[in-house]
Amino acid sequence: MNYKIINGAILKSDPEKLYTLSEDLFVVDGKVYENLPEDVKEEELEIVDAAHHLVMPGLINLHTHAYMTVLRNYADDVDFDEWLFKRVMPVEDRLPQEGAYWSSFLACMEMVRTGTTCFNDMHMFRGQSARAAADAGVRAFIGRGLVGEDLYVDGASRFEDCLEEQKEWESSKLLKFVLAPHAIYSCSAKLYEQVAREAEERHMLKHTHLSESDVEVANCLEKYGKTPVEFLRDTGFLDEKTILAHCVKMQGEDISIIAEAGSTVVTNPASNAKLGNGFAPLHKFAESGVNLCLATDGTSSNNTLNLFREMNLVSLIHKGLAGDSTMLPADQVVRMVTENAAAAVGMKDQIGTIRDGANADLIFIDLNEPSMFPNNNIVSSLCYSANGSEVDSVMIDGRFVMRKREFVTMDGERVRFEVQRIVDKYL
Ligand SMILES: [Zn+2]
Repeated sequence: MNYKIINGAILKSDPEKLYTLSEDLFVVDGKVYENLPEDVKEEELEIVDAAHHLVMPGLINLHTHAYMTVLRNYADDVDFDEWLFKRVMPVEDRLPQEGAYWSSFLACMEMVRTGTTCFNDMHMFRGQSARAAADAGVRAFIGRGLVGEDLYVDGASRFEDCLEEQKEWESSKLLKFVLAPHAIYSCSAKLYEQVAREAEERHMLKHTHLSESDVEVANCLEKYGKTPVEFLRDTGFLDEKTILAHCVKMQGEDISIIAEAGSTVVTNPASNAKLGNGFAPLHKFAESGVNLCLATDGTSSNNTLNLFREMNLVSLIHKGLAGDSTMLPADQVVRMVTENAAAAVGMKDQIGTIRDGANADLIFIDLNEPSMFPNNNIVSSLCYSANGSEVDSVMIDGRFVMRKREFVTMDGERVRFEVQRIVDKYL
């Protein structure tokens, strides 16, 4: 279906600012246009009336573990060791493939409900995150978590999972695959070197956890005599196609090493706070010119996948920490989940923006909701007032996946039934 979107306030950007414009938009064959393409007849378009709605690019959640959604509120208020080794990992070991599927599907529902149209996922269950995203109609970057000493020996079966799922979904317009070594404490230097080489040859993105906790940094210094960032740099893993989740515990030259490599930093403020890991030094990252993005992490450590909550948190936390009310203004925060994230995944000008020929990943936000009214500053309201419930409709690749708050591609009742069945059996 092709559409003409009328009466909406359209979120636009230039290098200086984000702003809104009243103009019609056209959605043709999954792409968005400000002017009707010549070969398209206007009378064949379905009209979408977006009166009193903001039409903006869908949000991009750059670090998730969708399969963990079944663990929401299952292991809270315990220390990190208890959380990971005693609560989370035993369930991960028991969870069947279909458990990961329904869990990931629920993740897609929550993300769509709160305006996320694309996520970058690290998972443990071959094909399940991909299948859930494809069935839900959500754009995703999928990485099988890799661990081990050697990618071709103890890491081989996971690497094979990664290549197999990539092959299976080769023709998908929505799914892309990344290489995702888990972390420096679960992967050797050799494995990171091997992954860097494979990524280069296969033109794939890289995604890993980095410098999340004090323990990780202390152990790395003790074992290798270098910081986690230096460790990764020395493996050749850091470049402009690398996405680094967390980067909380930066030491010495760490920030300039990341900046020089051109890698993306994804901050997860709720997860870092909840697990007692503190806060990433975002003011220093901002000064260094690093591409800075925002994510929720998995629901076991957040406990939501709602990027509106995360936008609010990141701005307030860092204003408070820096004692500076000008830190992370709304404009910058919105870019973290749109333009910056698009650049991180190599899709600048294709997602995270509304411009001629970009993918039609659009969300419609009800500006008449009490939380959004009056509309004194729409960009501010996205960061400081919205809670995600204002998202009225979501379109991904030109297809409505939620319209007027009704899911189109997802059956909520079925998903709840299946997730409850998994919870009853495996938690
Ligand atoms: Zn994570």
